[in-house]
Amino acid sequence: MRVYLDHNASSPLRPEAREAMIQAADAAGNPSSAHAEGRRARALIEAAREKVGALAGAAADRIVFTSGATEANVMALSPGWLKHDKAKLFVSAIEHASVLQGGRFAADAIERLPVGGDGVIDLDEARRRLRAHCSGPGSSPFLVSLMLANNETGALQPVAELAAIVHELGGLLHTDAVQAAGRTPLRAARLGVDLASLSAHKIGGPRGCGALVVVNETLHDPTALIRGGGQERGARGGTENLCGIAGFGAAAACAAGEAGGGGMAALRDGLEAELLRISPDVVIFSRHVARTPNVACFAVPGMSAGLTVIAFDLAGVAISAGSACASGKMKRSSVIEAMGAGQGLASASLRVSLGWNTTEADVAWFLQVWRETYERFKARAPAA
Ligand code: PMP
Repeated sequence: MRVYLDHNASSPLRPEAREAMIQAADAAGNPSSAHAEGRRARALIEAAREKVGALAGAAADRIVFTSGATEANVMALSPGWLKHDKAKLFVSAIEHASVLQGGRFAADAIERLPVGGDGVIDLDEARRRLRAHCSGPGSSPFLVSLMLANNETGALQPVAELAAIVHELGGLLHTDAVQAAGRTPLRAARLGVDLASLSAHKIGGPRGCGALVVVNETLHDPTALIRGGGQERGARGGTENLCGIAGFGAAAACAAGEAGGGGMAALRDGLEAELLRISPDVVIFSRHVARTPNVACFAVPGMSAGLTVIAFDLAGVAISAGSACASGKMKRSSVIEAMGAGQGLASASLRVSLGWNTTEADVAWFLQVWRETYERFKARAPAA
């Protein structure tokens, strides 16, 4: 038996997405062709665009399909929107690597905005830094990137509040909405963001497909990341990934219906209550701020996350050490470190993320393995 609790890394393909992908695989035409086969392929893409737009809370014609959120983030982080060669980029310290690296901004044009111990951006400090930039001698047009929900802790960020500050100062705001989509209601247009990124495989769609939502209708980047045959209205060249896009659309339709449902939060809260009962010294990150309902991120001081993930895997349970990217390389979690928790907790941080097919029995099995693993650790650890 396997129990899969790593939906924030990648959520298993939903049956509805698989079905849509199989149908799309049998559509013969190039979506740019004028004949019936081409028009059929085009119709599949436009139907998916409607569904992804509905998930994002934006008009369908604002969606640009990409190869995933990494590409969408790199597309979004472009000085091209600002039409200025000294444009500046501000990113929060807890962003995904594809945002932290700054897309197409020069390394010396990127500044990190700090978060507090609860994993939420420090809005006062952000306001102070942005004002200092705008009133200083090096003042220039700027873009800010703040994710809607963090991939490790689930902590929701005050994106609407930051949007107001950024716009008052004349800047643009991008949000990486990958971990918020399908987990909490998403209203990109109402949030006041200019750009948003989405990924299909975090909501039960296929890997290798995503979207940039160009919410602000006045925006046009003359330096599109991939230029070619004018697809996606010139924003992203290349014959469209028809299967991926069709699967993304089907997954988006399912996920939009689930976002904000109370069942997931009850499952997660129950899991955390049991964690605290079994292991009183466990630290649960971002527990007292608004979070997506599907994540528990926690650490026991001194208990190696890497070894714990392996022990769980052997017991049939897939969980993650910090972020999946970090766990693959067995690195400390940069998110937990940015929260000021110290290296010890950062290298002990574990993430359990629930999703569309998670059951109470999955959580119960996880808790049983946790009890055994924790007790083994305590039996070995020197008494404090
Ligand atoms: N942003 C966040 C917050 C993520 O969690 C991920 C996936 N690890 C990405 C971006 C990248 O998405 P993709 O895998 O579609 O490139």
